[in-house]
Amino acid sequence: MPGFELFGSAERKEVNDVLDSGVLMRYGFDGMRNGHWKAKELESELQEKLNVKHVQLVSSGTAAVSVAMAVAGIGAGDEVIMPTFTFVASFEAIMMLGAIPVLVDIDDTLTLDPQAVEAAITSKTKAIMPVHMCGSMADLNALTAICKKHNLLLIEDACQAIGGTYNKKPLGSLGDVGCFSFDFVKTITCGEGGAVITNNESYFKHADHYTDHGHDHEGLDRGAETHPFLGYNFRISELQAAVGLAQARRLHDFVAIQKKHYTILRDALSAVPEVTFRTVPEGGEESYGFLNFFLPNLESARKTANAFKQSGVDACFHYFDNNWHYIRKWDHLKNLKSLYPISNEVKEGLKYLQTKTFEQSDHYIARNISCLIKLSWTEEQVKERAEKMKKAILEAL
Ligand SMILES: *Cc1c(COP(=O)(O)O)cnc(C)c1O
Repeated sequence: MPGFELFGSAERKEVNDVLDSGVLMRYGFDGMRNGHWKAKELESELQEKLNVKHVQLVSSGTAAVSVAMAVAGIGAGDEVIMPTFTFVASFEAIMMLGAIPVLVDIDDTLTLDPQAVEAAITSKTKAIMPVHMCGSMADLNALTAICKKHNLLLIEDACQAIGGTYNKKPLGSLGDVGCFSFDFVKTITCGEGGAVITNNESYFKHADHYTDHGHDHEGLDRGAETHPFLGYNFRISELQAAVGLAQARRLHDFVAIQKKHYTILRDALSAVPEVTFRTVPEGGEESYGFLNFFLPNLESARKTANAFKQSGVDACFHYFDNNWHYIRKWDHLKNLKSLYPISNEVKEGLKYLQTKTFEQSDHYIARNISCLIKLSWTEEQVKERAEKMKKAILEAL
């Protein structure tokens, strides 16, 4: 998955354009920049690749999720439904706005279970946020129907899923707002960066202003701009955008490589009857950034994870025992360990985490192994790896 595996002359050329002019800022300095607008170019590139009307680059994927909520008017005391399996950033971004993350079970897609979502809706719910973890999606038809029925927003955390599709539409473009990360380990990387995408003109305008201190971007002179509302700084720099531009132009090539490697590994593991694969909902196509499969139980999954390590099969994760990606180890959230005071509303809103258990999520995550698909492997290396994986699984069973 990490785009950095294929860094080369294209990235260098784009970055040198920026260094040659010396303008690292995405706005203004028109006379100095030799016509280079890397952030704008990257926004156009993504607009085309993701088939969406508007793209706003931001400083990170975490910022993207926060900005997505803010532009849609989500704030203090609002509830946002999200899955138990994601990266900590998903709830951080919600809490940054004073809103309340409501975590619900996943199903065999490893993403939101629509039934669990519907059961969690209250009068405070404002949005549903599926996270397309490891490159694949929830039943988005079902989630869209729930949003319509209850008048909720659909915000896609597509940070790990650029290049995947659902009903032929790029992931991230199906909901009201979609979010991407271009951090160092994502399929497309800027070093640090992210994007908010939307077909909603007003949300886009909000994002354009909000991510740059609320400046309206309508004055001729930056200091002459007015502020229709409060904002912050979630800008990307030209240097980061330059790297991302070189990467984004190769998005389809990257996904094709991932698919090729994924298919070789999956075909090999399919020969083991005890191995089953994550469900991809009808109409969905993964981004192939990870291969996710299930072992029969927790013990065989733990043994497999260890056997992979012993035999040098790297970049495979047993998320049940991982501190970053699954509710089981998020004690800092459950116990609300905050550096600064948190509102009573949020404290109350998160009390359920002290007692709620997530047996259904445990059932899937305990048995799941998730293997990163690398771009830099040769076909021979992938085939060798497939054999090693098969052997390690058979030993672990
Ligand atoms: C990486 C990631 C984020 C956050 O992105 P950053 O750019 O690292 O802030 C959010 N959600 C998911 C699912 C991610 O994988």
